[in-house]
Amino acid sequence: MAKRDYYEILGVAKNASEDELKKVYRKLAMKYHPDRNPDDKSAEEKFKEVKEAYEILTDPKKRELYDRFGHAGVDPNAAGGFGGGGGAGGFADVFGDIFGDIFGAAAGARGGRSNVYRGADLRYSMEISLEQAAAGHATEIRVPSWENCEVCHGSGAKPGTKPKACHTCGGQGSVRMQQGFFSIQQTCPTCHGSGKVIPEPCGTCDGVGRVKKTKTLEVKIPAGIDDGMRIRSGGNGEPGVNGGPPGDLYVEIRVREHPVFQRDGDDLHCEIPISITTAALGGKVEVPTLSGRAEIELPEGTQSGKTFRLRSKGIKGVRSSYPGDLYVHVALETPVRLSEKQKKLLRELDASLQDPKHSPQTKGWMDRVKEFFQ
Ligand SMILES: [Zn+2]
Ligand SMILES: [Zn+2]
Repeated sequence: MAKRDYYEILGVAKNASEDELKKVYRKLAMKYHPDRNPDDKSAEEKFKEVKEAYEILTDPKKRELYDRFGHAGVDPNAAGGFGGGGGAGGFADVFGDIFGDIFGAAAGARGGRSNVYRGADLRYSMEISLEQAAAGHATEIRVPSWENCEVCHGSGAKPGTKPKACHTCGGQGSVRMQQGFFSIQQTCPTCHGSGKVIPEPCGTCDGVGRVKKTKTLEVKIPAGIDDGMRIRSGGNGEPGVNGGPPGDLYVEIRVREHPVFQRDGDDLHCEIPISITTAALGGKVEVPTLSGRAEIELPEGTQSGKTFRLRSKGIKGVRSSYPGDLYVHVALETPVRLSEKQKKLLRELDASLQDPKHSPQTKGWMDRVKEFFQ
């Protein structure tokens, strides 16, 4: 008899992942398992076929050989041990890891209500200004909330009717399936673990028992918060499933770009333009800070790009003990739209500045260029 292609047997694509193979195998193995198909020869054959395909394709070495050479590359008779026996003991160990999965999944939720889930977390994105981030900010937000349906009082059943205990599981929420020697507990497929069915669902909430509303929450943003940080509001996420706890609400902070300051951790940076006269003669310059105006004293001959630090004029971060600093970067401004008279004055000034001692940077630079061209 010609052997069927392993991928075809399992009904998966050539690039199927191990997880995919496992899933498909579990389904097919359950379907064709001899314990479920007593005295059915064709089911037993199919079971062996499925088992062999699964064993080959989940062994990376054998799978590679099979992909290159087909059945000849992984001849089970040559390798020995495949497809033989067929006794209950053999099947038990085929099922080993797969049963492990099922037990593992069920272990977390005992006591019949195996479909109890925590509600999903909600995310709320909030944009604030740099000033609000630095000083802290109290505000209100509108978020979705779920309230018991007023019509059915949360039961999900149409008024005048009642939810009934699920027939499939007798209200347990889970069912036991006998698989050979094994007894597996699974979530009831009829009631999905709640143990109840609603013969006539409430029209207002579609049988869910809750309706979605919005509520107003107060949010206190702590001083020093930075872009990308989150504030957690416990229990204000989506409600849990089948009595599980609700999720949490996360308020994610976005700090708007500031027209004057750039933030770097707890430090702030800003650039101030100064005239060439102030740069040359020195003098007091007013600079902005988050807490008001301040002054810095520029020394004579301040160069463009020079940075001045104002201690503690930055931001005190959420977890910092001291505020950061403010760095003021000086940018020289070249005068524009000059009158003829101003131009003449500048040329006269320039003529008076020919001595290299007035332009130490230019002199150094000229020397380097000269060396470069030699
Ligand atoms: Zn209702
Ligand atoms: Zn049920």
